[in-house]
Amino acid sequence: MSTRRTFIKQSALASTLVASGGISMSEIIAQPQIKKTVISTWHFGLIANEPAWEILSKNGSALDAVEAGVKITEADKKIQSVGYGGLPDRDGRVTLDACIMDEKGNCGSVVFLEHILHPVSVARAVMEKTPHVMLAGDGALQFALANGFKKQDLLTTETKEAWEKWCKEHQYSPMKIDRDNHDTIGMLALDASGNLSGACTTSGLAWKIHGRVGDSPIIGAGLFIDNEIGGATATGKGEAVMKMCGSFLIVELMRNGKTPTEACKIAVERIVKHQPDYKDFQVGFLALNKRGETGGYAITKGFQYAVHNGENVLIDAEHFVKD
Ligand code: ASP
Repeated sequence: MSTRRTFIKQSALASTLVASGGISMSEIIAQPQIKKTVISTWHFGLIANEPAWEILSKNGSALDAVEAGVKITEADKKIQSVGYGGLPDRDGRVTLDACIMDEKGNCGSVVFLEHILHPVSVARAVMEKTPHVMLAGDGALQFALANGFKKQDLLTTETKEAWEKWCKEHQYSPMKIDRDNHDTIGMLALDASGNLSGACTTSGLAWKIHGRVGDSPIIGAGLFIDNEIGGATATGKGEAVMKMCGSFLIVELMRNGKTPTEACKIAVERIVKHQPDYKDFQVGFLALNKRGETGGYAITKGFQYAVHNGENVLIDAEHFVKD
């Protein structure tokens, strides 16, 4: 948000530029300063924001920024809910969901993809090299291999042991979807040209039924970008987000004048209104508008997000359930 002090600073700079003959005052008024920004889910967003910011600060594209950012989380084996080292489904298989969307409204998505370290890059290849939006399972894997991605085992010693323990304790029964054992990196960015892009990638719910796909790779649910307005992304129980097209709803609310935080809050209230068991699970939303304003909101306490616009900070999101 522009404060009185930053406005005065900008005005002084503008006067100097005009006085030096470099630029006319009307050009300055017509070109408000773009606030390069990247925002992403959870504490691991702090690390993911760094390469994204590096690209934005060198006037690179928001699309390159979000891809580079979430790739860090995908490759980090300590993060057991995204990419390599993600907890497997109940059959012991790591299946990944990811999508990406650019400023032109182009998008690509992969669902139920196995053995590929960077599903977000496969999603980008779907967007850029095919007439399609979404590829699933074996077809997505075949496409990835044909496009130079390497096949690898994504199950680590730690996640294999966790799965074996789960098998002993749960007799193969699908878990109730609670607040644990899942998270996603969703990232939104605004670049120096004023363009927005977003990416979202996850291994989904731990111990899910083989074949389950969440909201994260679904355009409009886990991610949505409209370059005229802003972008939104989601984390938490994907089934809850898919039922109300969460990210699309948030962008439409911003189109109607809501701030990013207000829009995320209304989306959470929509879940609360229609899904009576809302206290049993978590959903967190993030939004970024065309002016570089950011916001987030969650059902319950504990959702954090990272914002980098020169300084990289972790923010505790406001939440609906107060107790
Ligand atoms: N939304 C993800 C899914 O349902 C999980 C999460 O973000 O916690 O697969």
